Amino acid sequence: MSQKEIERLFSGLDTSVQLLQKELGVSYLEGLSETGENIIDGKKATQENKYPSDQTVKMLTELYQELPLDNMEPEEIRKSFQLALLKGAKSDQVQANHQMTPDAIGFILSYLIEKVIDIDIKKIRLLDPAVGTGNLLSTIYNGLTLKEIEVEAEGIDNDDLLLSLALINTELQGQRVKLTHQDALTDLLIDPVDIVVSDLPVGFYPIDKNAKRFKASAPEGHSYAHHLFIEQSIYYLKNNGYGVFLVPTQLFETKESAALTKIIQSEAYLQGMLHLPKELFKSEKSRKSILLIQKKGDKAKQVKQVLLAQIPDFKNQTSMHHFMQEVENWKQENIKNEK
Ligand code: SAM
Repeated sequence: MSQKEIERLFSGLDTSVQLLQKELGVSYLEGLSETGENIIDGKKATQENKYPSDQTVKMLTELYQELPLDNMEPEEIRKSFQLALLKGAKSDQVQANHQMTPDAIGFILSYLIEKVIDIDIKKIRLLDPAVGTGNLLSTIYNGLTLKEIEVEAEGIDNDDLLLSLALINTELQGQRVKLTHQDALTDLLIDPVDIVVSDLPVGFYPIDKNAKRFKASAPEGHSYAHHLFIEQSIYYLKNNGYGVFLVPTQLFETKESAALTKIIQSEAYLQGMLHLPKELFKSEKSRKSILLIQKKGDKAKQVKQVLLAQIPDFKNQTSMHHFMQEVENWKQENIKNEK
């Protein structure tokens, strides 16, 4: 991986966003969306009602021609775009529930998915119903592609700016992703998928009328969006398919969780719950874990031993190695997909 190219592309994106911000008075992420569209639409800056100025249009168009995109691997492009997204999240003060999934977490999710999928699988349908900027989905996409698995992915989000960033992110990487601007808790026009992966929005879902369609909804008042997302995901999984979700660590400890547990038990198997290192989170309350479920089907069964693990601090290589060995042993004894 060429760090130099990653930085060069980021620097080009960043300069172009700043030029657009200055002239159009837009936020960083809006500028990134505009510049991304320009790059995708033939590396040419567009002008509307004489904005940006002729001079800026010329500067931008020249800058776009110099971007090293053609020589870069998808994963390098994702990393550059991610640097721009990080800068945008900071300068636009993006709220926690809309923040991109950091790489450290994306890689762990990717690792787990690669462990549980069938070793012979050649093609995978993937869905992220809260796709945001597409960073998590494209990390998993690139991981599977490296394993020579053909990926067909879908992403949904109800935030149009984030979805436009996801579109640019995935298009620049040349990924096959269908993106839909929609409330993911309404009916989806999606064929069943092999894997749902998602960093779920946490908190109350405001539309009680939609929530009521779900068994995991609260008997009165608002329901937890993350509970409804898990139920919805199960409905769009193929039999035997996996759901891998980033959830609050306290998921099963609230009084509202009884209905969620019931729906998971009736439609799927809870195969694992892995706690992310506490260093990654500001407080105990904001801690997250990875929930691994498998939809019932002829090839699925409750594992003998649910994978319960504490993921160590990512910087501690020895503990990380030990953790991976633990997952590998669990897989050998409980999943046995290896030939
Ligand atoms: N994994 C994403 C990434 O790498 O950028 C970040 C996901 S972010 C933590 C949660 C996302 O859920 C946000 O993008 C938010 O707009 C989306 N969201 C919240 N409620 C939603 C709903 N009802 N339908 C669809 N998306 C929703």
